[in-house]
Amino acid sequence: MPGAPARTQPLILITTSTEPHRDTLLRDDTLTGRNYAQAVVAAGGVPLLAPTVDPATAAAYAAAADGLLLSGGVDVDPAEFGAQPEPGLGRVDAERDAFELAVYRAFRQAGKPVLGICRGIQLVNVAQGGTLHQHLPVVPRMLQHEQHDPTGAPLHPVRLEPDSLLARALGRDALRTNSYHHQGIDRLGPGLRAVGRTADGLVEAVEGLDGGFLLALQWHPEMSWRAYPDHHLPFRLLLDAVRAGD
Ligand code: MN
Repeated sequence: MPGAPARTQPLILITTSTEPHRDTLLRDDTLTGRNYAQAVVAAGGVPLLAPTVDPATAAAYAAAADGLLLSGGVDVDPAEFGAQPEPGLGRVDAERDAFELAVYRAFRQAGKPVLGICRGIQLVNVAQGGTLHQHLPVVPRMLQHEQHDPTGAPLHPVRLEPDSLLARALGRDALRTNSYHHQGIDRLGPGLRAVGRTADGLVEAVEGLDGGFLLALQWHPEMSWRAYPDHHLPFRLLLDAVRAGD
């Protein structure tokens, strides 16, 4: 009997959104942008999409996959960081919050690399005990972070800490990024380091302080990596970290 085929490429678990879909068959659709998966493949990984299910599955996912990508999506429920809903709060998904918090903790506990994108940086910050601005347009002196152009082209510069993973990989301390968010980090969670900010002071990139690979970004590199090759770096850094951990 032949054995199981050897695994040669790392598996990256990608979290997803749930969209009600009840016009034909009764079902809730699991979906996210295919561009996350394509960016993972281009970095040498194999994507696995995780539907939002019982958080009790988190440990099994962390055992099965080599790294985690927390994707973009709806707002984190302010109840998760001890706040009441404020005007401007968008749609929330408490089931997704619970699932992603459990999956995040399971991957971190297993020492496996984590990359957070957009909602992902917010989820990571909340998981670490931080808080969020629920609606940036009502925060004084914020830039416009809700980009209307849907192409993913860069909109604002992000100033990077010179010794951050991204700055070292780029060889410079600034990167222009796109911006499709109306929430952002307010109080930074313990265990995180702010490594990128826009001119208004908003934290747009964080790393973990404990040595395990944890990188989270407020922008959407999965939208821009084809046209702007520097934006593929976060995915390459994730896969490099996975391979270094083997
Ligand atoms: Mn922004």
